[in-house]
Amino acid sequence: MTAPDAVRRKALAVLREGRVTLLVVRSDPDTLAVTKVVARVQGSRGTYVVDYRVTADSGWDCTCSRGMAGQRCGHILAAQLVTGHSDTAAVRAA
Ligand SMILES: [Zn+2]
Repeated sequence: MTAPDAVRRKALAVLREGRVTLLVVRSDPDTLAVTKVVARVQGSRGTYVVDYRVTADSGWDCTCSRGMAGQRCGHILAAQLVTGHSDTAAVRAA
């Protein structure tokens, strides 16, 4: 499932306005696949933290209300786009 247009527009605005700060990005040295991301995103109603890790419950989390409900928000999509993840990557179920 690709991101809805509203989420995509929000993510692109976040990137265009430089509101994503990558705090941690780790990758597998052999495959170069990204294994861990922590990003701070300045949203319209506050600052949120986006977290991605490869574990048993691998997935993306965000501290905004949409992210806490297990949905892909513009903050997650912005972090996915800037770290080279497919925008169809799984979001961790709440
Ligand atoms: Zn969010």
